[in-house]
Amino acid sequence: MSTLYLELFFKNVHRCALRNSFLCSRGLTEITRRAARLQFSRFSTSSCLTSKKRKMAKVVQTPSKLKEQIYDYFLVLDFEATCEENIKIHPQEIIEFPVVKINARTLQVDSTFHQYVQPRVHKQLTPFCTQLTGIIQDMVDGQPHLEDVLLSLDQWMLDNKLLDPEVKSLFVTCGDWDLKTMLPSQSEYFNLPVPKYFSEWLNIKKAFAEVTSTYPHGMMQMLQLLNIQHQGRHHSGIDDCKNIGNILIELLHRGYVGKPSWKKR
Ligand code: AMP
Ligand code: MG
Repeated sequence: MSTLYLELFFKNVHRCALRNSFLCSRGLTEITRRAARLQFSRFSTSSCLTSKKRKMAKVVQTPSKLKEQIYDYFLVLDFEATCEENIKIHPQEIIEFPVVKINARTLQVDSTFHQYVQPRVHKQLTPFCTQLTGIIQDMVDGQPHLEDVLLSLDQWMLDNKLLDPEVKSLFVTCGDWDLKTMLPSQSEYFNLPVPKYFSEWLNIKKAFAEVTSTYPHGMMQMLQLLNIQHQGRHHSGIDDCKNIGNILIELLHRGYVGKPSWKKR
């Protein structure tokens, strides 16, 4: 089969699946499953057409084992925070707060919350922090502080019906640092209440270990081992969310059923 034919075939599958995804209910058609994966993960911003076509060909050979999910939505979250090379900053403060909402049925991104946050104590970002995260001083100056961002997030959760009692959503992070360490420590320092929905989450590394029997060091290794193209800039919160989302989708296609790996009492 020629590569041109493959590309045309997948463009059609993708279009068809987009149509189907509005029509089908709980039971997904195979075509929709594959195209959901293609849309989010496989049709990435890769500039290497040859490897892209190779990946498309690989998708044909890998049937999805997507299972019925317990949760309706996965909320992929990845904070960036003030930092300095080899020095522990105290208090460390969140400077980027992204959440990507993935529909557990269609595996599509339904909505995104993304806000840069102004730090209160270490107001000036270090050159190291800017180099690591790509966040420059202008991107945090004049932005809301954490307490206002938490209020905006709450409104976004409300608007997205994520606070409805019948809707089940699960936060997904890479490691436990974001919700076990970063948010609680900053909230304690500034005496801010932590919303109840942050009391459980899925650490994607645990999901990865369950599916592959390998405990990963980090996001880049998971992408590599799953043969997923990295998107955007590593340590940009919003790009990290998209990449973690792609890992999650691949694990779901391999039969993983999303569940919390951590529950606070
Ligand atoms: P990540 O989610 O891996 O992008 O990292 C989240 C945050 O952890 C960053 O915004 C930094 O505050 C901190 N961090 C990550 N890597 C380093 C590093 N090599 N040195 C110091 N801080 C880091
Ligand atoms: Mg990050």
